[in-house]
Amino acid sequence: MYGYTGKILHVYLDDGRLEVETPPEEFYRKYAGGTGFGLYYLLKHTPAGIDPLAPENTLTFAISGPTGAPISGQSRLTINAKSPLTGAVGDSQSGGFFPAEMKFAGFDAFVFHGKAPKPVYLWVKEGQAELRDASHLWGKTTDEVEDRLKEELGDRRVHIAQVGPAGEKGVRFAAVITYGNRANGRTGMGAVMGSKNLKAVVVRGSKKNATFADMKGLTQLTKWGVKEFPNSDIYGMGLLGTAEIVNGQNKGGGLPTHNWDSGYFACAYEISGHHMAETILKERDTCYACTVRCKRVVEAENRYKVEPRYGGPEYETLATFGSYCNVDDLEAIAYANKLCNMYGMDTISCGATIAWAMDAFEHGYITKEDTGGICLTFGNAEAMVQMVEQIARKEGFGAILAEGSARAAEKFGEKAQDLVVAVKKQEMPAHMPQVKRSLGLIYAVNPYGADHQSSEHDPSWKWYPERMAMLGLGEAQPTKVLNREKVNFAFTTEKLYMALNAFSVCQFVFGPAWHLYGPDQLAELIKVTTGWDLGIEGIQEVGERVLNMLRAFNAREGFTRDDDSLPKKLYKPLQGGRSEGLHLTPEELEQAKDWYYEMAGWDQNGVPTREKLESLGLLWVAEQL
Ligand code: SF4
Repeated sequence: MYGYTGKILHVYLDDGRLEVETPPEEFYRKYAGGTGFGLYYLLKHTPAGIDPLAPENTLTFAISGPTGAPISGQSRLTINAKSPLTGAVGDSQSGGFFPAEMKFAGFDAFVFHGKAPKPVYLWVKEGQAELRDASHLWGKTTDEVEDRLKEELGDRRVHIAQVGPAGEKGVRFAAVITYGNRANGRTGMGAVMGSKNLKAVVVRGSKKNATFADMKGLTQLTKWGVKEFPNSDIYGMGLLGTAEIVNGQNKGGGLPTHNWDSGYFACAYEISGHHMAETILKERDTCYACTVRCKRVVEAENRYKVEPRYGGPEYETLATFGSYCNVDDLEAIAYANKLCNMYGMDTISCGATIAWAMDAFEHGYITKEDTGGICLTFGNAEAMVQMVEQIARKEGFGAILAEGSARAAEKFGEKAQDLVVAVKKQEMPAHMPQVKRSLGLIYAVNPYGADHQSSEHDPSWKWYPERMAMLGLGEAQPTKVLNREKVNFAFTTEKLYMALNAFSVCQFVFGPAWHLYGPDQLAELIKVTTGWDLGIEGIQEVGERVLNMLRAFNAREGFTRDDDSLPKKLYKPLQGGRSEGLHLTPEELEQAKDWYYEMAGWDQNGVPTREKLESLGLLWVAEQL
């Protein structure tokens, strides 16, 4: 078998047992890797109805066949478990160098069962694995742990994925951090890792563990990407990072502002990638073998000290700590980003939860008595930063916000709950369904809560008709409608995005629109790395299988159509900017859900049918429902 190492490591934390599974090629073809592997083991080993922070929750780290190949956009790590934030399935991706090194270390996935009696870390080198004591690392921030482990292991080139103090303390949106600047941020996977007393996973290996089917074909594909990159629509992201889009989003009325009351932030330029490049940007960073180099590295020394080791804020981070909170202080946002990376927290949920608290504070539902005297008004950068620190340590009012906005709001009454902007209790990322209509449906139905990287966004259909045609999509529909064709666009691109997560590739590099490589080239990547000629259809089938497994997991947990809902704020007209007056309606969402469930082959409660699961080779999943 090419591409994969053929080995899955099971780690039984209760008694320290380590077992290597060597599944047949059929398993690899069916589930591909990433979220596909994660859901396979979650459905097999996590009993329905458990507390996500209980030892019975299974935690998986998974990569895929293309991981570690010398080409842009292949070094991605997926982490899955039942989410402590949503109570539904958890899923989170990150890039960097850890995923490639995990392949070099000799494994396609790590599956963690149970809970260690005391803090441990997993050390994997060249196919050999052991659990080591991590008591001396418990309570330490990510920078301290990174330095200590490198010193202790006598190797500066080890790669470390770890939980910070926030994960240890059970902050519901705690992240798993690598290098202090990359995060598996969403759905609280850091809290699950912390609940298992698993402080870190450390990998080191050599390229001999990664063999690919067709090196000549792979080199050609790599060279094509390097040559075309300067002419591609992703080039700007290389120059300014994801922060590039702040100004454009704002101009179109699509930059969430004042906790989603508006899509226009008057001070957007102050928090933009352009302003960052003029002020605190130190350099660009990248992931293993990637030519795009979209990662930012910033440095600040004035009011807030931000060291380069913590990277720099992405678009989502600039929005959640910035426009969501009406904060225009770039250094304060960079500092909030550093704190999240240091303590291990998702910047989207953290910033959005603080924005909700500011909204509730200004409405008088939360008072200074609740906040311990902090004047939590919109635009107060200092208060925003104070809250990030309190949340990370679960101290003061931060201990309430560490539960996420939906749970925190339950303490302050119905009106405070109406201000929450979350789906399945996960805070919404910074792309607005009011101006990109199909996102409303996808935010509602996505199994792991509101997510902006689970389908293609509406404007792409018009701008990239040739790549869309590869997926069978015909004439583009207007951005602001949610008709049956648009629902088909959402569902079709969603399957592709699910496959991107299963094949563990970067959604900036491979995709159906503005990406460096199109769907046909993704099929080529899979062929040259694994030897499998799946074609676009075969890739879509993998994506659909993964989507069905995710939905089946949620169905087991009792999630229904009612959970595929949107926050009330989205039904209120937006104020100011180009999106003034725009809003969604509950009727359009319900109609879109009907069409979507029908297209997916699910019942009208959004549950995959036995026939659908059987057609995808998932009868064993159907038997769990
Ligand atoms: S595009 Fe950015 S996030 Fe994606 S692999 Fe390249 S450097 Fe990493």
